[in-house]
Amino acid sequence: ALTDKLSRLVKEMRGQARITESNVQDMLREVRMALLEADVALPVVRDFITRVKDKALGQEVMSSLSPGQVLVSIVNRELAATMGEGVSDINLAAQPPAVILMAGLQGAGKTTTTAKLAKHLIEKRKKKVLTVSSDVYRPAAIEQLKTVTKQAGAEWFPSTSEQKPVDIALAALDYARKHFFDVLLVDTAGRLAIDEALMAEIKALHAVLNPVETLFVVDAMQGQDAINTAKAFKEALPLTGIILTKTDGDSRGGAALSVRQITGAPIKFSGTSEKIDGLEVFDAQRHAGRILGMGDILALVEQVTAGVDMEAAQKLAAKMKSGSGFDLDDFLSQLQQMKSMGGLSSLLEKLPAQMAAKAGQVDMNKAEKDIRRKEGIIQSMTPLERRKPELIKATRKRRIAAGSGVQVQDVNRLLNEFEQMQGMMKKMKGGGMMKMMKRMGG
Ligand code: GDP
Ligand code: MG
Repeated sequence: ALTDKLSRLVKEMRGQARITESNVQDMLREVRMALLEADVALPVVRDFITRVKDKALGQEVMSSLSPGQVLVSIVNRELAATMGEGVSDINLAAQPPAVILMAGLQGAGKTTTTAKLAKHLIEKRKKKVLTVSSDVYRPAAIEQLKTVTKQAGAEWFPSTSEQKPVDIALAALDYARKHFFDVLLVDTAGRLAIDEALMAEIKALHAVLNPVETLFVVDAMQGQDAINTAKAFKEALPLTGIILTKTDGDSRGGAALSVRQITGAPIKFSGTSEKIDGLEVFDAQRHAGRILGMGDILALVEQVTAGVDMEAAQKLAAKMKSGSGFDLDDFLSQLQQMKSMGGLSSLLEKLPAQMAAKAGQVDMNKAEKDIRRKEGIIQSMTPLERRKPELIKATRKRRIAAGSGVQVQDVNRLLNEFEQMQGMMKKMKGGGMMKMMKRMGG
């Protein structure tokens, strides 16, 4: 048909579009904001943006994608590639016992992670594991390691605050050799900030232990300062890997990119809870989505282009920009888009880990039924009510409830939800996401 031909022609023309110096600037500014909001250190952001720009410039914009979509996917891929590079499990290729030295600031999660790793090595790698603490400054820290080691099902080598850290390490190493342990995990004293004496101490430990892995444990919630900590540890020790803890927290975890870039060491695992089994192989793809604050953006972009009415999305974005606000019609079209994006359960897989875990507790059939019911409620409203939800008082609520076959409290619930969404939309306004959506629309 003629119209088919026409739309193919338009697509082909779009296919010739390139990312140019002029159309990339604004978009890169949004990306830069997103990275800074995620607490990626400033010099790392600059460096990253330069790399993305080099990759993006002149890139062909294929098929029906807009330059915005292509750029976002380049950013996503570059983030994931940078953070995922060289990832591998714990290296144990050494004459047993393979020694693993844990380094990092106080409170980063060294002691907890020592036990988590012990459990991992026992269960997944079938190793015989010994732990020891050289934290002679805080007797409680030694006791803490004893407790969590027991939980891990590993053996703990006793140490006391009267001993010297190097002597503790040598005694543990000797014991591990004599008792045929495969792995010796050495938990060390924390530093509140970079401290010369403590740096000298961990260097000395490294020298006598000759560890096969020297792991830098870092809190995902650490902000701009992560870069200084990482630099100091990298200068002191030949780091072989990073463990990113507390990824179950609220932060977007930009420290991962900073620390990866500064140390050059691969991020091997992430800590996902305080519990002993809260350790996962680091998932760079997922973490990239989290840093961008947009889940698995690439997959989502694909689904969005396949299922969502771009015109509606653009209209919404334009409306937001003009300040006329988010109304119930917009809410309805969001609900409908949720359905058209290939079902809720497939969308679920694209969410960042934390959100997915929460959403995973939801019964999907029930959730889809719920969407249909909400649609029904909004459809029972007059156009005026949809534009001015504040008009909906008791009488109107009763009429709407009767019209859509629900209770008044269901109408109330929907209106509450709408208000929450509206609040979120207000916050996002000017915050990059809508602008990015708009550009993605073409
Ligand atoms: P260290 O000073 O480096 O040995 O840190 P600790 O292992 O004592 O951990 C400091 C605090 O962080 C403790 O309260 C831990 O329970 C907590 N923690 C460690 N790793 C994680 C994690 O991945 N998630 C959460 N939520 N808490 C963690
Ligand atoms: Mg500790």
